[in-house]
Amino acid sequence: MKKILPALITSLLLSTTAQADDGPVTAQKLSDHVYVLFGQGGNIAASVGDDGIYIIDDQFAKLSDDIKKTISDLKPGSAEFVINTHHHGDHTGGNENFAKAGAHVIAHDNVHKRLEEQHGEGSGFLPRISFGHDLKLHFNNEHAHVVHYEHAHTDGDSVIFFSNDNIVHMGDIYFNFGSLPFVDVDSGGSVNGILAAVDDVVKQIDDNTKVIPGYGKVSDRSGLIAYGKLVQSAKDVMLKAMQNNASLEQVLKADPLAELNLEYAGWLPKEKVTTLFYRSLK
Ligand SMILES: [Zn+2]
Repeated sequence: MKKILPALITSLLLSTTAQADDGPVTAQKLSDHVYVLFGQGGNIAASVGDDGIYIIDDQFAKLSDDIKKTISDLKPGSAEFVINTHHHGDHTGGNENFAKAGAHVIAHDNVHKRLEEQHGEGSGFLPRISFGHDLKLHFNNEHAHVVHYEHAHTDGDSVIFFSNDNIVHMGDIYFNFGSLPFVDVDSGGSVNGILAAVDDVVKQIDDNTKVIPGYGKVSDRSGLIAYGKLVQSAKDVMLKAMQNNASLEQVLKADPLAELNLEYAGWLPKEKVTTLFYRSLK
């Protein structure tokens, strides 16, 4: 999601996650070593163990102190690494603060490129370590596998697999609101890429896997399958409406997504979803 919409996202989150009601940043334990942190941006995962601490995503800069406090309540110390699932500001806004505190930021090459365009060369927001296809972080008795998925929510998305703990962090490829994703076409995202990523992750996990979405409550394999089916239905009705070279104007007028009967957040109304799906599928 884009950083201009935090208030709306927060109110959406507060209405859907009980965990967010206790304070600015709260933690939910998922395994002996892995926690999910809810605050005002994309869901954070924290790995806490004998080797130290690292986190996946870091929300907004103004929340860095709250995030640090929540983490040090789990284990004294600070994050040694931050993995970014993608470049959006509600997932990378704390990069500079965590880097100043000693963390090394890790992300896909395209995240480095986009953050450099945004913040300039040498900025503390940029990853110190970037990678092409995948990378493994051997830390806290875990071998976290960070895997790039092409042209999904953006062109720089990573999914992180904690294989020992049987947990996966999907970033914004997965919005767990029972609604459709934000396909950031202008940042290289695509409907087909989201479907391919969901499909691939579903094949790699089992019924006991805990699935952390970019937004919304922690989910599981069946939740992710249902989400994939929903995105596929939206693609199907869109393609039908786009037959005979229909223009965007004609498709918006025909309102094909209406038959899915979904609710839409104020920052991502149906017209915007329709437009992004149209541009992606055209
Ligand atoms: Zn995003």
